[in-house]
Amino acid sequence: MSLILFFFEPASLDYPLGQELMERFKKNGTPVKMTTSHNRVMGIPGDTPSEAYRNAKRTLVVGVRKTLTFDTSKPSAEYAIPLSTGCMGHCHYCYLQTTMGTKPYLRVYVNTDDIFEAASRYIEERKPEITRFEAACTSDPVGIDHLTHNLLRAIEYMGQQEFGRLRFVTKFHHVDHLLQAKHNQHTRFRFSMNADYVIRNFEPATSSFEERIEAAGKVAKAGYPLGFILAPLMRFEGWQEGYRELFLRLDRELIAEARVDLSFELIMHRFTKTAKRVILERYPKTKLEMDEETRKYKWGKYGRGKYVYQNDEANELREYIEGLIGEFFPNSKIEYFT
Ligand code: SF4
Repeated sequence: MSLILFFFEPASLDYPLGQELMERFKKNGTPVKMTTSHNRVMGIPGDTPSEAYRNAKRTLVVGVRKTLTFDTSKPSAEYAIPLSTGCMGHCHYCYLQTTMGTKPYLRVYVNTDDIFEAASRYIEERKPEITRFEAACTSDPVGIDHLTHNLLRAIEYMGQQEFGRLRFVTKFHHVDHLLQAKHNQHTRFRFSMNADYVIRNFEPATSSFEERIEAAGKVAKAGYPLGFILAPLMRFEGWQEGYRELFLRLDRELIAEARVDLSFELIMHRFTKTAKRVILERYPKTKLEMDEETRKYKWGKYGRGKYVYQNDEANELREYIEGLIGEFFPNSKIEYFT
């Protein structure tokens, strides 16, 4: 799915990357518009909320990141590093459904030097402890990196940090420009994988399993530490066979280099009441199972709880998936299950 609308915040043109992008779009004859504030991006067409939502996902805003205080990002890292916000993908269960409002356009930041300076301060505060930064908290950073190369810059910046590490996860296969990066093995490159049933039914507008596994092979060959995030783990009909099939495929396709330093992160499906409402509005025909009655309510911060699998179901899922990892990738590391 390609982008259709391009906006620039005026301040973005004070930075070389902003100017470069503007030049590039002009050269290609791509119409661009100016916007005074990213909170008031005007002119995203759509007669219905659903149409406006779909068009927003194809709209790019080139802007300046003003907030340079990073959020925490447990359990995968200490901090979230902001390189971009939003995603072109249409995963039904995506956490961005509820965090990005009604017009979740993509926003890329041109002031990466400011962002890396802030990261350096966080690293300095914690050294000699290693500080890990997660670059996929508010977007899928690989999906649009061909435009900005922000991720490439972040990888090379972190390659030079003795006490800093980068990690991110993607469902896209557009990794070729990242293969030559001087990463110094300071970046863990993770791919989001799932059973065929989940990818087919709930992850429209992302790369296919085949494309992701091929990209994972390239990344491993380029010397990056590799990881898989299996999320959201779901108990659909036939889930055991579905996940066994996933591991058979991973085992069949994964090159030897990818097995040397392989990590798994396991995240079960969960939803909030708000997410359920929004998802059903945007994807009314979704097969996503969101039955509060069969789930356990887990209280969260500020009274915003989530519906998770019942303990016995969660334990069964965990044992089964961890068993598969032990069987197929005995030398890999399971970082967490949540
Ligand atoms: S690829 Fe990731 S960020 Fe993009 S829609 Fe899917 S889950 Fe959300």
